[in-house]
Amino acid sequence: MHRVPNPPKLPVIGDPVAQSRGGSKIRSSAAACVLLAASFAAGLPSAGMAAEVPAPRSAIEQSNDGRCSGNFTVVCADTDRGREIAAHAEAMRREAFATLLAEEHPRPWVVRCEIRVHASAEAFTAALGGPPVSARGATSIEFMGDTVALRRIDVVDDVDATIPDALDHELVHVVLADHFVTAPPPRWADEGLALLFDPPAKQRSHEADFVAARRRGLTWSAAELVALEEYPVDSLRQEVFYGQSAALVRWLVARRDAATFIRFLDDEASEGIATALARHYDLSLDSIASAWKEVAPINTLGLADRRR
Ligand SMILES: [Zn+2]
Repeated sequence: MHRVPNPPKLPVIGDPVAQSRGGSKIRSSAAACVLLAASFAAGLPSAGMAAEVPAPRSAIEQSNDGRCSGNFTVVCADTDRGREIAAHAEAMRREAFATLLAEEHPRPWVVRCEIRVHASAEAFTAALGGPPVSARGATSIEFMGDTVALRRIDVVDDVDATIPDALDHELVHVVLADHFVTAPPPRWADEGLALLFDPPAKQRSHEADFVAARRRGLTWSAAELVALEEYPVDSLRQEVFYGQSAALVRWLVARRDAATFIRFLDDEASEGIATALARHYDLSLDSIASAWKEVAPINTLGLADRRR
């Protein structure tokens, strides 16, 4: 299982969580949940809805009647909110596939993505089965060979917003998994791409972290950053990691486009970063340090103005 955390921003609650792999706690938690299927109209693909346990008997029966369709199952205490979240997720899924993978009409997921909406940070932490965390979201992806066998997003929903603030970010991780089936993309690239879909205020906060870290001499060299295989455990280093990764991805995407960046990552996996950088950007590992001096604008992909 591949699980990646969404960094804490707006608001910060407790200590950040480190990335984790493996384990079955998410799986057993999901199995304990009772799902309620529902169809959605409004021209969008219908999606599954779910209620937190306990659910009425009729809800259990409805989950087996075959009316559940679409790419998402939303587990949410409020049915109307769940419907809105599912519709938003469908739209964001299409946008992420089109923007990042140049797929205007992505195939439906046979294995739906389960979105579990937690009303509090405590409920989120309990569902993930770990120590207290401050992440706003988490993504779990499980492969069977080169096919995704499980998609799950957990998000905290404790601020006054229609859509949980971490949802778009986590959804990018899930969409990218459809492309990177043999191995996940490098940490810096995976997070940097997901951060492009965060609300502008959250992106600016990460950039502020990065600028402050630069001032204090706490940033990594480019070679160190792209070689990181795991998330930093220390909360301050996590902030630097997210801010620096976002800056580098924005800078590279701004030089060409998102599609080129994905091809660069494909070649990086098979031939190494030096070859891939030279081929797609005419750059070396040393020269990408310019990303820290020529930070690209937050709205590199033009996503900032879309309706939330
Ligand atoms: Zn993330």
